[in-house]
Amino acid sequence: MLDHLLSHHDLALVGLAGALCVLGNYVTVLIAGRVPAGARAGGWPLLIGLCGGTTAWSTHFIAMLAYRLYPPGGYDLELTVLSFVVGTALAGLGFEFARRAAHHVLGRASGGALVGMAVIALHYIGMAAMAMPGTLVYDASLVAVSVVLAIALGAGATTALGATRRLPGMIASGLLLSAMTLSMHFVAMHAFDIEAAVSGALPAHGVSRTLLAVAIGGAVAFILTIAVVGAALDVRLARRLRAEADRFRVLAEGAFEGLLVIADGRIVDSNTKARKLLALDDACSNLCPQLLERLIGDAVDTAEWGESDPVELTVRRADGLSFPVEVTRRRLPLPGCASGQLIAIRDVTARKLSEIRIAHLALHDPLTRLPNRRFFAELAERTIARCERAGERFAVMVIDLDNFKLVNDIHGHAAGDRVIAEVARRLAGALRTGDIVARFGGDEFALLLSACPQPAQATALAARIHRALAAPIVLEQGHAHPGASIGVAFFPHDGQDIEALLRRADTAMYKAKADGKATCRFFEAAMDAALLARKRLEERLRRAIECEQLTVAYQPIVDCVTRTPVACETLLRWHDEELGNVSPAEFIQVAEESGLVAALGEFVLRQACQDAAAWPLPLQVAVNVSALQFRRGDLLASVRAALAASGLPPARLELEITESVLIDNRDDVVRTLRGLKELGLRVAMDDFGTGFSSLSYLQSFQFDKLKIDRAFVADMAVDGKEASLVRAIVSMGRSLHMKVVAEGVETEEQAQMLRAFGCDQLQGYLLARPMPADAIAAYLAHHATHPPGLAAVG
Ligand code: C2E
Ligand code: CA
Ligand code: CA
Repeated sequence: MLDHLLSHHDLALVGLAGALCVLGNYVTVLIAGRVPAGARAGGWPLLIGLCGGTTAWSTHFIAMLAYRLYPPGGYDLELTVLSFVVGTALAGLGFEFARRAAHHVLGRASGGALVGMAVIALHYIGMAAMAMPGTLVYDASLVAVSVVLAIALGAGATTALGATRRLPGMIASGLLLSAMTLSMHFVAMHAFDIEAAVSGALPAHGVSRTLLAVAIGGAVAFILTIAVVGAALDVRLARRLRAEADRFRVLAEGAFEGLLVIADGRIVDSNTKARKLLALDDACSNLCPQLLERLIGDAVDTAEWGESDPVELTVRRADGLSFPVEVTRRRLPLPGCASGQLIAIRDVTARKLSEIRIAHLALHDPLTRLPNRRFFAELAERTIARCERAGERFAVMVIDLDNFKLVNDIHGHAAGDRVIAEVARRLAGALRTGDIVARFGGDEFALLLSACPQPAQATALAARIHRALAAPIVLEQGHAHPGASIGVAFFPHDGQDIEALLRRADTAMYKAKADGKATCRFFEAAMDAALLARKRLEERLRRAIECEQLTVAYQPIVDCVTRTPVACETLLRWHDEELGNVSPAEFIQVAEESGLVAALGEFVLRQACQDAAAWPLPLQVAVNVSALQFRRGDLLASVRAALAASGLPPARLELEITESVLIDNRDDVVRTLRGLKELGLRVAMDDFGTGFSSLSYLQSFQFDKLKIDRAFVADMAVDGKEASLVRAIVSMGRSLHMKVVAEGVETEEQAQMLRAFGCDQLQGYLLARPMPADAIAAYLAHHATHPPGLAAVG
């Protein structure tokens, strides 16, 4: 066969045909290989068919030009064109079929077989187009060999191209295609002979050798163009792919999560974030296998995932640091790998911390960082459950600061916060281990004394708390004495659940408040009733003020020597339909605690000034001003308004205040006092001897009058010590240039002693009882017409 080839062919042209064949087929495979298996076909099959068909066609006809044995006179045009069309169409179909069936070896091979048939058809139709002076006779067995060769090599070529379309496959495929075209051609050329050459007549519309050469030239130009364009496209495509890969890398690097690509249980790719997070080297080789296993999760599930729900894990890195992460996994189809997954790892330390912080906030008071009411209730429920099982007792203690509202009003909220924080600190310091202190808001605290079977233990703790709160709290201006009223209730005696226990402890605390501040009371059943009564009192007092049911009484104050009236003290009177006469000693406190005291105070001031202005004698009128009223209301404004409305000369108005007004020794208290003095008012110190009785209070402000509390006066006649105390107070008052008044004088004996001590004025039932406004006018009118000397005798 080789002899035949060498002897009957122009070898230069054969070489050209071979070269063109290899080039053309390679271009064809290149294009075929670029069309992805899953993509839509579009115009690709046509182009591939044209490329493959043109290659086979021009190879065939160049080889025919090289054939010297029976040089044909020319070619039949129709058959020549037909050979091209059939070859092109079959080749295009064959490649497209192979592409669509790429996932199947048999499918790929079938497509290739079709390509082989394209070459066979092209060759034999091309042969039939030859104008020959005889008939072509074929050797059947060699024809069969050529057909089998073409089909087999074609099938081999598309199979080699494969599904993945990698370069080695493409090269092999191109070579196989070339082998197919060339071997088919030359075997077929060996298979024919020409019989009975009759005449040299050529077909009428034949294609001359020259025209054929031109057509072949065109075909070659086409293939070369496709080759160049294909190469350019290839370069661009490669660049695009690289850019795309870069973009993905940037994306992966910019991701907030650490990303790991896992193929069959091994890390094959990772972003910097993941390596940093897990403290891995660039190859991720130092990730401990157990950790990797936990990150990958249960491989059985992997097959099912689109994307898994995030899983929270605690990661312990090679460097020993451990922290919480959230892991999300997604199945990732990776070429040549049975199970691929993408793992996203997010460090959730910050989130965890803020979750903890939020949980803490929900259960604690932000100012003191103590447990809040909700947390306290939770802890108490646990204690209840435990004590129920063990049959044990425990105590709940409620603490309310005594003067806190005052501190807030006078010093402002910032100072109030400081006081609360300091009290919280002191309370915590007073507790035993195991006890819990909580802040319920405002100035309310609660204690849970889990190991407190005996009331004595609660009493001891209350004493410790009182001691701890006794020291003044230093503020920017002055200082505060918080003091605390404490109520105690016991489980299970006073309540079965925490609400009941707190309610009972609250009741006891109110009782403690009512019994004098800075005390501690244990809950007793009777207290509930007392508390209710107190609530009712407050309600009715509010109504009484609204309906103007309150009145004032006046009690004369007389000169100690002449017993002529020199002043009258204004005393509030309230007669309630249901409650009867309620003492101001009782309702003033309720008014203070409920904020009603300001309205009450203004009423008394207005009424006193108005009444006094109409008295037949120009006596002084004294008005009591409670500490809270003094500090809260705008006292100076109220006083000015009352004086202006009544026309009473300021010198006739006297205000009685108690020491508690001066306790904090604050600048603005003294300023208000001075303001009152500047208005021309007089100021008396009331109830002297009951409070702190500190000389410094008397020195901080020049009082006009000192009123000795009636308790001293009452004890004076029976107790020598009390008598000498009263004598000392009188002489001290006089030395400080104050008028001294004795309250509650009920007997002539007391009056005589006080006169002997040098007391200036007397007030008490002996001299006159408090009387209604119209009665005092009559009383004073009587004294105006009766000389003082006579009154003293009467
Ligand atoms: P206080 O300022 O010490 O008033 C004198 C109290 O002693 C009055 O009681 C008066 O009725 C009573 N009293 C007078 N003479 C005698 C006596 O010989 N023996 C006895 N045992 N008591 C006598 P009252 O009216 O019940 O007032 C009690 C307290 O209520 C007053 O004590 C005062 O602190 C307060 N208060 C009364 N009215 C007002 C007011 O308008 N405003 C304010 N803020 N407090 C008032
Ligand atoms: Ca008074
Ligand atoms: Ca008094």
